[in-house]
Amino acid sequence: MKMKSIPLSYVFCLFANFLCFSQKVVYDFSCMETDDASWLVNFASDLEQSTVRGYGEKVSLDEEVKLGNQLLVDLKKDYSIYEYGERYTRVKKIMDKLKSKIPSPRGFSYKIYLIESKELNAFTCGGKIFVTTKIYHFCQNDSELAAIIGHEIAHNELKHINDNISRHKTAKSFGEVGEMTALLGDVLTTPFNQKNEVHCDFVGIDLMKKSGYSICSATQVWKRMSKLDQNNSEYDKFFSTHPYSQTRRKCCINHIQTNYQIDCE
Ligand SMILES: [Zn+2]
Repeated sequence: MKMKSIPLSYVFCLFANFLCFSQKVVYDFSCMETDDASWLVNFASDLEQSTVRGYGEKVSLDEEVKLGNQLLVDLKKDYSIYEYGERYTRVKKIMDKLKSKIPSPRGFSYKIYLIESKELNAFTCGGKIFVTTKIYHFCQNDSELAAIIGHEIAHNELKHINDNISRHKTAKSFGEVGEMTALLGDVLTTPFNQKNEVHCDFVGIDLMKKSGYSICSATQVWKRMSKLDQNNSEYDKFFSTHPYSQTRRKCCINHIQTNYQIDCE
């Protein structure tokens, strides 16, 4: 029996698709090196991060999850937290879409929470993502919310919280009982470095693209945030942990142009 031959054009097409899908995303951080000082800052933070990863106390994924659980318990004491309703369903749907596109998941069981708060903020620990009602309403569409949520997913996947826990556990010795909250306080008040923030923006954009969101919305949301009155306390809250919004916006524009050939300017 003669085997049915597969048209060569079809094979080529498959191969071309394989090439396309396996194409590596380029993470270019040169957008951050605006002067000698920022180059030095980035170099120093890279060095510090590799030292923590190489010599710092090892932290398991389970420890991250436990700390995330503790954070939820603590937040519930002071805030109304929504895990139901129309707004919650909307953010959960966005998070579910994004998390399904994580290339090599570390193994978190992601959960999202909407916090009733007038603070413009979003944060994460142990696969739990917290979004305030203020930032929810600040976002003008699903794609802008996806930029915020994708960024927070990336902090987990890129081990930034793990690094922070390791830093504090290496510096102090925390006992088993009663000191979880102290560790949590230290971890949450330690800002991520600028490069980590930009890296999360990039990974968030990649997740957005794979999920079918409009990736230029990531640059839009940072643009509007950077225009907020800098004396405004809301601005301070968000940017104390999410600094350098103009640079971040520029980096996002570069990332999208380089990897997806879309001009967001
Ligand atoms: Zn961040």
